[in-house]
Amino acid sequence: MDIYHEKIDLNVVVETFKSKKLTIGLVPTMGALHQGHLSIIKKALRENDRVIVSVFVNPTQFDNKDDLEKYPRNLETDIELLKTVSKKNLIVYAPSIEDVYGNNIKASDFNFDGLEDPMEGKFRLGHFDGVGTVVKRLFEIVRPDNAYFGEKDFQQLMIIKKLVEKFNLPVHIVACEIHREKDGLAMSSRNTRLSSQQRNAAPFIYKTLLLAREKFVNKSTKKVVEWVEQQFVKNEFLKLEYFTIAETSTLRTFKRKSKKKSYRAFIAVYADDIRLIDNIALN
Ligand code: AMP
Repeated sequence: MDIYHEKIDLNVVVETFKSKKLTIGLVPTMGALHQGHLSIIKKALRENDRVIVSVFVNPTQFDNKDDLEKYPRNLETDIELLKTVSKKNLIVYAPSIEDVYGNNIKASDFNFDGLEDPMEGKFRLGHFDGVGTVVKRLFEIVRPDNAYFGEKDFQQLMIIKKLVEKFNLPVHIVACEIHREKDGLAMSSRNTRLSSQQRNAAPFIYKTLLLAREKFVNKSTKKVVEWVEQQFVKNEFLKLEYFTIAETSTLRTFKRKSKKKSYRAFIAVYADDIRLIDNIALN
């Protein structure tokens, strides 16, 4: 499997693919790969002639230095895992910060029509400017036909679609379902940091989302939100940061439910200093 650390070298390969009219799929990741990532990569391999997986912990999307420093990194293990999927049509781009940012490690300012304001945008200041900056740059470097993003980061997925629309970027965005552990916990690189007690407590997040979905059928949004907040007050290991029910297309909260609209619930929880997020379609 070919691994590139510099865009100048990757560009030569991309040029070859383009000249042969081979389609390119891009799967952006921050490494510490797990089965959730692999399911996306397998989908990309089915749908493209070549797949480029980027492994880059993007500093500009972290508002918390400690979170950035503690983010799990292990390129060698990632590569071993990727080899189990495909050695042939898969390429890794694992750049340095300098290769992506030069000597200006800064995010651009974006306007995503308000999609960036609630939830992750509210609790992680500047997060989506960082995401927009790195993804736009990756698109410029890789020039993919298709790019794959997980619904695990649903707000991010919506923002990437908006980025493509606003800048008229020639790439098709493919949404990928959330991959879960058997007990329902959404797979995440951060799960490796959980202690065994925290890991045992963590499936409570998805169980609560499932119950919230049931309650949403007959109860008001306000009542469901209050109920969820109450559940976490009693929890010894998990601290709720936010639980929000929003309209899927705008990510805005709303006054009255409408049968014609689609809604989603979003949650962020802390287990000590480890931040976990999840979401679920409600109707
Ligand atoms: P990350 O490495 O966490 O930045 O994730 C890279 C990509 O994989 C993002 O598009 C994520 O939304 C996606 N992803 C991460 N975990 C999961 C999961 N459990 N199920 C589906 N997609 C995921």
